[in-house]
Amino acid sequence: MTDVALPVLDAQQLRQLAQAQAHAPCRRCAALKAPGWEALSATFEQSALRKVATLRRSDVEDPTLAEYHPAGSNAWSADAPVAPAYFPYNRCDVWECVQCGRPFLRYVEYGGYYIEERVRELHAENVAVAPEPPGALA
Ligand SMILES: [Zn+2]
Repeated sequence: MTDVALPVLDAQQLRQLAQAQAHAPCRRCAALKAPGWEALSATFEQSALRKVATLRRSDVEDPTLAEYHPAGSNAWSADAPVAPAYFPYNRCDVWECVQCGRPFLRYVEYGGYYIEERVRELHAENVAVAPEPPGALA
């Protein structure tokens, strides 16, 4: 697996990456609008994004399903905090547009009867430095 070579980002590093790439979408990625989580459409051109980093920590065997919403957002909110240790961010990889570098988060949701690839734009202002979730390794 080439994944082992991906850098694992914490909240600070994720925010830096998002800040460095804060710009308008290019023509290639403009169709991908996901201020909050969206299902990745079947027609989405997979080669438009490349994986550049991950939030999945190899030292956390069983990432928590707990979510982080101190301000009352929900999982689908456009203002939901991006807290890397919490669900679903602890299952996410960081992707960027191959053309302009605009960053996204992606993970695969395993429902009871379906598997869905989800995508969300990454914005620095949403990245939250959160306390460790209950049950996480010290
Ligand atoms: Zn782009």
